[in-house]
Amino acid sequence: MAKWSISTINSLRRCNRQYYFAHVAANHGRKNAFRREAYELKRMQNFLMWPGSVVDKFIETEIIPNIKNLDYSDFETLAEKAVQMAKEQYAFSKKRLFSNPDVRAGDHKQDFAILQMHKLNEEYSEDDTQVVYDKIYDAVRKFPDIVIPANGTKLLDFLKEASWLLPNVMNWSFNVESSRVSPQIDLFLIHQNKPVIIDWKLSESFVSDYSRQLIICALSVMNWYKNRDGQNPDMEDYSLYEINLLKESENVTSHELNVERASEIIDYINLTGSDIELLLGDRKYEEIDIEEFDITDKDTTCAFCNFKSLCAKVLINGIENEKATFNKHVSNLQFEWD
Ligand code: SF4
Repeated sequence: MAKWSISTINSLRRCNRQYYFAHVAANHGRKNAFRREAYELKRMQNFLMWPGSVVDKFIETEIIPNIKNLDYSDFETLAEKAVQMAKEQYAFSKKRLFSNPDVRAGDHKQDFAILQMHKLNEEYSEDDTQVVYDKIYDAVRKFPDIVIPANGTKLLDFLKEASWLLPNVMNWSFNVESSRVSPQIDLFLIHQNKPVIIDWKLSESFVSDYSRQLIICALSVMNWYKNRDGQNPDMEDYSLYEINLLKESENVTSHELNVERASEIIDYINLTGSDIELLLGDRKYEEIDIEEFDITDKDTTCAFCNFKSLCAKVLINGIENEKATFNKHVSNLQFEWD
């Protein structure tokens, strides 16, 4: 069964070759150096994406657990702690620990990061990091005062009133025909017996259709209810909020869940899932040829692509030479370690 997500489909639409690197080749294991390289590039973040991922992680690991433990800490102190987390990620990335085979990502859940300038040895000014730290600080400091317009409640109070708070839910999968859909739910909660799904947003990111993302999350919550006790709330009881943590006001956008939108999205998953199935079948990585995945002719897509260094090397050297180069690189390293 093919894995389906909005990012998978967006990647496929942008460029088939990019899809290959991100969703066929990328593998965190270190046995196959070419696949490991694709994985590191997939996880690589630039200065636009990094603050969002730090704040997401901080909400998941600090703010929500604090609220569950009835610890409503001073958010100035929490904001400093979030910046400290970013600084630790920066140090991890700067030392290129992500490429050290002795370092296990599982032991670095908070500070694991692959920043583009370190991964690609790009020039940058250390001052640029201050802009990122300021963004992170502001987002966390503002967190409690964001107002939910539907009821005029401040976000912190709204979360305090919740009977369930589950951050970063990733395993509530559901199937649509031949596709396995496992959306990442930033925060799921139950407020006054009604389900609420929240998606954090920290920039004017390239993901424009938050409505679609939130409805997919809602479908996975509906499936969870069905498997749990069969009692599914009515669609109109669901609240879907996209919350921008950086704006000064109007931080919350509410998206509607209704039968038409849900059916439209199921059709979309079905249709695009068939594209993936046609492309991959049930073949394993070794059976799939990179040449089946065309490169795009759009320069702007390449300009923002994480895989452009690897893609260029494959085009110049050929895939087999490139794989051999990576493997040789690894055996040299192994020689040094011995
Ligand atoms: S660099 Fe361009 S052609 Fe290559 S994978 Fe990325 S988007 Fe596709």
